Amino acid sequence: MTTLSEAARSLPLTDLSEDEKTFRAVVREFAEERIRPHVREMDEEQCIPRDLIDACFELGIMGVEIPEEHGGAGAAFFMAILAVEELARVDPSVAVLVDVQNTLVNNAILRWGSEELKARYFPKLASEWVGAYALSEAGSGSDAFALACTAADKGDHFELTGQKLWITNAAEAELFIVMATLDPSRGYKGITSFIVERSFPGFRVGKKEDKLGIRASSTCELVLEECRVPRENVLGEPGRGYKIAIETLNEGRIGIGAQMAGLAQGAFEQALKYAGERRQFGRPIAEFQAVQFQLAELATQIEAARLLTYNAARLRDVGLPFVKESAMAKLFASRAAEEVASKAIEVHGGYGFTREYPVEKYFRDQKVGQIYEGTTNMQLLVIAKQLLGRL
Ligand SMILES: Cc1cc2nc3c(=O)[nH]c(=O)nc-3n(C[C@H](O)[C@H](O)[C@H](O)COP(=O)(O)OP(=O)(O)OC[C@H]3O[C@@H](n4cnc5c(N)ncnc54)[C@H](O)[C@@H]3O)c2cc1C
Repeated sequence: MTTLSEAARSLPLTDLSEDEKTFRAVVREFAEERIRPHVREMDEEQCIPRDLIDACFELGIMGVEIPEEHGGAGAAFFMAILAVEELARVDPSVAVLVDVQNTLVNNAILRWGSEELKARYFPKLASEWVGAYALSEAGSGSDAFALACTAADKGDHFELTGQKLWITNAAEAELFIVMATLDPSRGYKGITSFIVERSFPGFRVGKKEDKLGIRASSTCELVLEECRVPRENVLGEPGRGYKIAIETLNEGRIGIGAQMAGLAQGAFEQALKYAGERRQFGRPIAEFQAVQFQLAELATQIEAARLLTYNAARLRDVGLPFVKESAMAKLFASRAAEEVASKAIEVHGGYGFTREYPVEKYFRDQKVGQIYEGTTNMQLLVIAKQLLGRL
């Protein structure tokens, strides 16, 4: 017999607590009022205005898991996931800014930072500093541990030399988590994780990418020329950066699942609204069963994407294994987002193909979901490894 407490543990995944409901409502209102009116302009200008970033800090969504004594909200990872989902429903670019800050940067420092690093950086990350996470390079993407950026041990400091590519938030960030190798011949065992401030000598942000989607989110190259990083800014232990990279990305992927589920929801709502308004053959197109079925299919995809994402986040919060589930969430949600955004354009007919309606932007924005934080093939690889490992 299932006891009452066991039954309580197995409440429906989408049944949110009062705190979660309130938090989600607050983020939704913020997204509608502060972000929606500027989405088109931000996409065209390719930037998120600083006052909007400041508003994200004021709302507390840039430091969701940062402990309260360091100025953060001290909340669960799941709350960050809710925030990313709600923001992506309106603008996936603002969503990824908040996502990287919480699920990669704050998360890595929370798990591997010394008390001194936490005391030094968390108050800033909770109130004004945007963070970025720099693993990829021109020659190492999926093969992340083939990175070539080097770190020379100089005793009280390290000197980092190399380039990083595709770094989200780089234009705005003051703090970068940078992966470099102490010795390329040691393979992944040489990889070390550093906290680098934008103002450190020898560090600069290079070229900004001109992208298909999430155009308001900055994606830049980083250039490190004998960049001097104090020894105390090593995150975790020297030579253990690979573990930080793997484990943060396992968690970060849940955030991308949330971004894609939120994006899909946003595109779907546009399709639903339009189907009720657009008349052909003397009636709203929503009255045609073929259109109704299409909407029903899309709603099902979104529900499944959300369930996978929430499940992975809740597993992570209670300390249960979640690596397979997080890869599944990202894999499925990014595919669902592609399907939903594409069909949302079709529901709009020719109008959907123009910039007059917001669905073309959701379509452009979704594509990156199958690329960053591990391509679709890499998610399949993670899932397969977990399956085979458990046999
Ligand atoms: C907008 C944007 C933002 C990003 N933000 C960040 C960031 O903040 N920080 C960061 O570090 N990186 C970031 N990235 C980089 C991103 O993580 C990489 O682009 C991604 O990991 C893929 O690497 P790649 O581009 O080198 O492609 P490649 O690794 O060259 O892959 C090319 C193709 O080959 C396939 N492939 C490669 N190896 C295998 C294999 N073994 N088996 C099967 N298929 C394989 C891939 O699936 C893919 O389809 C960002 C990228 C983009 C586009």
